[in-house]
Formats: sequence, C-alpha cells, structure tokens
Amino acid sequence: MIIEIVGLYANLKFSSAHIVFGHRTCGVIHGHTYYVDIKVCGDKGEFNFVCDFKIIKEIVKEICKKIDHKLILPRDHKDVYYELRDKALYFKYKNKEYIIPVEDVILLPIETTSAEDLAKFFAEEIISRLKEKYKNVYWIEVAISEGLGQKAIYKLEVKHCKE
Ligand SMILES: [Zn+2]
Repeated sequence: MIIEIVGLYANLKFSSAHIVFGHRTCGVIHGHTYYVDIKVCGDKGEFNFVCDFKIIKEIVKEICKKIDHKLILPRDHKDVYYELRDKALYFKYKNKEYIIPVEDVILLPIETTSAEDLAKFFAEEIISRLKEKYKNVYWIEVAISEGLGQKAIYKLEVKHCKE
C-alpha cells in the first residue's frame, strides 16, 4: 500500500537560493520556493498505517527548516572550491568568486543543487530517519518542485538490516 503527502497542501516547503554552476541562465544566484511531495510504500503496520503521516511531516519539516532562507551549495561539486575564511565561506567556480557569511549558507552533500539532486538528498535523509522505526517500508519516493508545475522525482528502496 502507498501513502502520499502533497507538499503544497501539507505545508512542506522551503524558499532558498541556489546556483546551477556553469548554466547559461541559472548560473547566477537566484531563488525558488520548493515543495516536497512524498510517497511511502510498505505493508500496513501499527494502527493499519504504512507510516504515521505526522511523523513523516515532522521529518520533512525538520529538513526544510535547515535549508529554508539559505543559499544552498553543493559540497560535492567537482569544480567548486570552498574555503572557510573566518566567519565567511569563500568559494570559487572557474573565474567567479564569492564570499558569503556562513550563517547564510547550507552546504549539502550533493553534486549540484538541481531539483534532481535535492530529491535524492531528501530521500536519503528521510529514509535514514524512518527505517529504524518502520521495518514495514519498502521504498519511498520524493518529488521536489522548483516552483509549481515542474518537479524531479527520486525513488529509493529501503535496505533493512537482517536481524
Ligand atoms: Zn534555480
């Protein structure tokens, strides 16, 4: 059975800035309001729930809160150099250099800040927090909408440890 939470109605969203390094139009600092949708597939468990909606929403909200109103930067981008300089983050991509206060940025373990990579990041974060409690879950799917009407979807299977 599958349950679904739609970010637009469930208030799962964040407004952040990002840069798609090297992209002709998106290679400058700009922002979006992102919405997070999530599907969870599994057997029915306690209360005949696949997963408690409230628990999933809490997890997603926590992740959104960490990212909201920050400049998202891709820690694992192969061509971006980072250096911590006192209370600021210096970074460089080709001939473009930036210095931003550390409290204004969030470095995520992703290669780019595309909606695709953000969806993968959310899926991995959510599963790492869910899988201890929910042994009945087979996979989750996270969709990140960059504005309304366009989204990237990432599906991740849950690997439960054998007991
Ligand atoms: Zn963008």
